[in-house]
Amino acid sequence: MEPSSEKKVTLPKLVSLSKRRGFVFPASEIYGGIGSTWDYGPLGVELKRNIKDAWWRSVVTQRDDVVGLDSAIIQSPRVWEASGHAEVFTDPLVECPECRKRFRADHLEDQLRCPDDGSTLGDPRQFNLMFKTFSGPVEDSANQVWLRPETAQGIFINFENVLNSTRMKLPFGIAQIGKSFRNEITTGNFIFRTREFEQAEMEFFVKPGQDEEWFNYWINQRMDWFIKLGIDSSHLRIRKHEDAELSHYSRGTSDIEFDFPWGVGELEGIARRSDFDLASHSQSSGTKLEYFDQDTGTSYYPWVIEPALGVDRAALAFMSDAYTEENTEKDQRVLFKFHPDIAPVQIAVLPLSRNEKLVPTARGVFNEIRSVFPAQYDDAQSIGRRYRRQDEIGTPLCITIDFETVESDKAVTIRNRDTMQQSRTLIKDLIPEIKDHLSSMGSTRC
Ligand code: ATP
Repeated sequence: MEPSSEKKVTLPKLVSLSKRRGFVFPASEIYGGIGSTWDYGPLGVELKRNIKDAWWRSVVTQRDDVVGLDSAIIQSPRVWEASGHAEVFTDPLVECPECRKRFRADHLEDQLRCPDDGSTLGDPRQFNLMFKTFSGPVEDSANQVWLRPETAQGIFINFENVLNSTRMKLPFGIAQIGKSFRNEITTGNFIFRTREFEQAEMEFFVKPGQDEEWFNYWINQRMDWFIKLGIDSSHLRIRKHEDAELSHYSRGTSDIEFDFPWGVGELEGIARRSDFDLASHSQSSGTKLEYFDQDTGTSYYPWVIEPALGVDRAALAFMSDAYTEENTEKDQRVLFKFHPDIAPVQIAVLPLSRNEKLVPTARGVFNEIRSVFPAQYDDAQSIGRRYRRQDEIGTPLCITIDFETVESDKAVTIRNRDTMQQSRTLIKDLIPEIKDHLSSMGSTRC
């Protein structure tokens, strides 16, 4: 009988499963925490790494027209002056005169009243979101620097370096993944809005005027990426920004939004930045960040399309979409139905028991498997409990070694996470068999 499955994902369930199984822990927990800051545990770090690898493969390594970069978090303060962030990277902050709590005005339903005690709020003031610090031992204004609030500027200021060191021709892109910092007025919803987060961004440079078609192209590419990695397309939507909410650099932005456990929120922004950044940095630095077009013999600033993904929000979206509670004939099981290419563990190797007859064979099988797939060896507790544990962390396949394996048939059992069906395979055929199983679950890596 097919198990009946019912999704009842809530944020508290995700937070508690994440902590229990080692996906995400509250940061500085032993000191009482530090507001909405999180650490990724042993499984969370693998999940996040797999998401970044899948993004990098799709945006950089599987394409001819995009190259990668890894720029510094701290750059010259002049970068942020030229980019406009020093002046206008702000959110409207309001304060309650009674309880002294601060809120982001545009996130309040009633912008005049305190949501906690109903008092009349003060007038909004623009609050700059960039974190300030000092470079070197002297804490004066000459040494003040900012932590980057987006990775994009590191790409623009290296435009000439990349052009000179590669043979890239328009249209082409430069991509990078890295930490960004925003001193958000309010944080929350687990890893959705934090002050330190990771972004995967790509600046795609095109001939002026060709931005519309590339904008649509990248929206479609990015939507496909989420869907291929298992996100239910009915949980995604594209929302075009109103003129009033456009960022200072944008000629048009569309967000890919996702149905998070508490409601719809932004997962990725795709912006048309025109030549705003290259032109501003050229003017400010005196280095002309232009492209020489050999076909026309002219130089110009390319225009830019930018898909900007929050890696932490992606992790949250993948977790919340994969979370499943299922009623089986015997009991209820909780599982993460992760796509095999992002599952933290792809294969679990489980000897039926710790019996010394089984261990050498099980270890041998494990060593062979771990050289090809992210794998885990688990021999604690009953086999049923181990299957449940692997379901809960989203492991697509379990390989079980039993007495028949060592005493007669030299075969093992492969169990599928989603169907719970089991099949027997000879150890000598195991690697190609596993590849077939993973492919049938959607993997494009085998
Ligand atoms: P929001 O409107 O939610 O504040 P944004 O429009 O300012 O986000 P962008 O500047 O477009 O965000 O950044 C690109 C992506 O970076 C976002 O789609 C989001 O996934 C991620 N991101 C931005 N701010 C945060 C944050 N404080 N915490 C986690 N991820 C973030």
